[in-house]
Amino acid sequence: MTFEALGLHTSIIRALSDAGYTKPTGVQEQAVPAAISGRDLLVSSQTGSGKTAAFMLPALHKFATAADVMDTDAGKTPNQERQAARARGDRPRFQAAKPKMLVLTPTRELALQVTTATDKYSAYTRRIKAVSILGGMPYPKQMQLLSRNPEILVATPGRLIDHMESGKIDFSELEILVLDEADRMLDMGFIDDIEKIVDATPATRQTMLFSATLDGVVGNMARRITKDPMIIQIAGSATKHENITQKVHFVDDLSHKNRMLDHLLRDVSVDQAVVFTATKRDADTIADRLNIAGFAAAALHGDMHQGARNRTLDALRRGQVRVLVATDVAARGIDVPAITHVFNYDLPKFPEDYVHRIGRTGRAGRNGMAISLVNHAEGINVKRIERFTKQLIPVDVIEGFEPKKTASAPRSAARKPGGWKPGDKRTGPSTGNRDHKPGQRTFSKPGSGTTGSSAGPRKEGSGGYKGTRSGETTGARRSFSDR
Ligand code: ADP
Ligand code: MG
Repeated sequence: MTFEALGLHTSIIRALSDAGYTKPTGVQEQAVPAAISGRDLLVSSQTGSGKTAAFMLPALHKFATAADVMDTDAGKTPNQERQAARARGDRPRFQAAKPKMLVLTPTRELALQVTTATDKYSAYTRRIKAVSILGGMPYPKQMQLLSRNPEILVATPGRLIDHMESGKIDFSELEILVLDEADRMLDMGFIDDIEKIVDATPATRQTMLFSATLDGVVGNMARRITKDPMIIQIAGSATKHENITQKVHFVDDLSHKNRMLDHLLRDVSVDQAVVFTATKRDADTIADRLNIAGFAAAALHGDMHQGARNRTLDALRRGQVRVLVATDVAARGIDVPAITHVFNYDLPKFPEDYVHRIGRTGRAGRNGMAISLVNHAEGINVKRIERFTKQLIPVDVIEGFEPKKTASAPRSAARKPGGWKPGDKRTGPSTGNRDHKPGQRTFSKPGSGTTGSSAGPRKEGSGGYKGTRSGETTGARRSFSDR
């Protein structure tokens, strides 16, 4: 299958060849023709599978084809009319931007990435401007972007609502609506904003929704806002990430964990790495500590100003930062091909976040390594991740860094695929914590020895998978959004 065979406009084919894309990915192969035919789409497929192009290429195709027709009609495009009016000296009141396409994303980083990808895909497509409207961006800058009447708007929901309510954006001519990472937007509490935005768009629009899962709340919303959608599920929610090698290292305490992290980061195979922490404070502390230890490290989390976040991501992209220490929400969507390793300094609160975390490596078909540093008491959380991904994560031991506890030794020998099988009723996701098979994978109890003994003020192994889903452990529920 080639991009030509998908029927894409020649200007897009040319841009894709510049970008070095030789053939469509699985999700693109299915989504592009369906979207060109005008159908609504509900898509779930793993991170890094090329979803941005899956919705952006058919949209650009549609706009490029319409522009060709407009040329032969010799009429003026709305923007040419605006320009002509300005040249005549008519300065009407501020005219609301009337985008043809709106892409909603959960985070600013993701919005910027979608805009950058769009610029790349539309390099040869005339009359297409894509802009991102984000919280944290100075208001005059946003007004200036909107006054250019961009065809494509990429935005986080909160900030967009503000502009809609003040009449700066008019969706009456919207043709295509995309919800990227819809599950995450709902997790972040954007549901009311999304519904308000959807209600402001014409019923005739084409809607494409992308999500890690199409079950539950997301599925309900998806059905409400789409018409006869084509459902594309490439890998299901339990994504395999077969190009990513996963490992667990058991640690006795924080100092053991820190020494092991330093050791692993010095491995020659580490090009760039992301270290995930549970809290913003730990992200800062560990980044500082790694800097002192001689790594070019930087923190990334939701308490940082947008400018600082952008600078950090740029430095990461340019290779000036080698180790990014990040929280889940801040790191979502980071797409830097040189990231060879992901370290879970803390396990994520939710198994699906594990999948998103490890998806920061192994981008664009490369191989990656994902290593979790796990306290003995957290074994149960590893199991939950394994159940979610339907894969076992092998336990590994590094010479000189052996954990004092021996519980993990017989375990690793017993850990062959087949210890848990998909469909095994006893270990199905609904059975909660009481599902380990006696003798096969025994985890030692907390408090029975070294756990946390020299750990200082930090408490480990707390939290687990309970509690509200706030994405980051401190701050209000929407502190990381863009209001
Ligand atoms: P997703 O949204 O599914 O996580 P992205 O759209 O961010 O994935 O794409 C992941 C990476 O793959 C990006 O670096 C992108 O440039 C690259 N990519 C996308 N499609 C192709 C393709 N057809 N060929 C090669 N690389 C691709
Ligand atoms: Mg994406």
